[in-house]
Amino acid sequence: MYALAIHGGAGSLSAADLQPARELGLREGLAAALEAGRRILQADGPALDAVQAAVTALEDDPLFNAGRGAVLTLEGSAELDAAIMEGTTLRAGAVALVRHTKNPIRIARYLLEHSPHVFLAAEAADRLAGVAGSERVENDYFITGARREQLRAFRQRGEAGGADAAGTVGAVARDRCGRLAAATSTGGTTGKWPGRIGDSPVIGAGTYADDASCAVSMTGQGEWFLRTAQAYDLVARVRYAGEPLARAVEAALERLTSLNARGGLIAVDASGTIVMRHNSAGMLRASVREGEEAAVIQSR
Ligand code: ASP
Repeated sequence: MYALAIHGGAGSLSAADLQPARELGLREGLAAALEAGRRILQADGPALDAVQAAVTALEDDPLFNAGRGAVLTLEGSAELDAAIMEGTTLRAGAVALVRHTKNPIRIARYLLEHSPHVFLAAEAADRLAGVAGSERVENDYFITGARREQLRAFRQRGEAGGADAAGTVGAVARDRCGRLAAATSTGGTTGKWPGRIGDSPVIGAGTYADDASCAVSMTGQGEWFLRTAQAYDLVARVRYAGEPLARAVEAALERLTSLNARGGLIAVDASGTIVMRHNSAGMLRASVREGEEAAVIQSR
C-alpha cells in the first residue's frame, strides 16, 4: 500500500486566489503534481522519488511559491530554499538562498545522494545545478508579474503589516515497501530580508522523515517552525510518546495556535495514515492512497 500527500502552501487565500480561473489553475497544478508522484509509487518506485517528482512539478508551476513564481525579497529578487529527506536511512539534502537553479529540489536530492554534507547555501549550491540535473537560469526566470505586485502591496503596507506566507510546496510519501520521505520547496515569505532562511530547508524545522514515526512537511510562518523545531517535535511525539499521528498533529497545532503561529502541515506515518491540518486561513492540499480516489482540497 502506498500513500502520498502534497501541499501548495498555507496562508490566507486572497480574493485573487479564489477567482475561478486561478482556482482552477491551482487545482490543476496540485492534481498534476499528485499524479507525478503517484505514478512512481504505483510502479513500485521509492517514496523519495515520488516526493521529488511532486515537488519538481510544483516548482515549475508559476502559481506556487517555489521555483518559478517564488515570492520576492525586499530587494525584489528570488531566493529559494528546499529540502528532501529519506526516512529509512535518515539521509537528507537541503539548500538555501538558491538564485540560479531552476529546480532547487534537485540540488537537495544531489546532496542527499552524492555529498558528505546535508546543507549547502547560496552560490556554492547554485554551482551544482548542472551535475544535479537542473537547468541554470537567470534570477528573472523565477519572477512573475503577480509576485512583483505582491511585493509592491507588501511595501505599501509597510513591514509592520507582517510577512505573507503562502504557496510553499511540499510532499510526503509512504511507498509499498513502507519507506517514508518528505520534501519541501519555497521562495520563503514576501518581502523577506535578503539572506533570510526559513524553516523549509532546515531539517527538523520544516521537513523531516523517519520510518519509525512519520514524514512531515510544514508550511506557514517559518520563523515559528524554526523556534519550535516543529517537524522534529511532531516526529518526537510519535516516536517517543507513542502518540498516534492524528493526535500528535492535533497537539502540535494546539501549541502553534497558543503561540499565535499560523500554518499547517502534511504528514504520513508507517501505516500509510495521512494527516493534513492547518490553523491558517487556508491550505492547498491533495492526497491519494493506493486503491482510493485522489482528493484535491482548496479550502479556507
Ligand atoms: N514556511 C515558509 C517560510 O517561512 C513559507 C510558507 O510556508 O509559506 O519560508
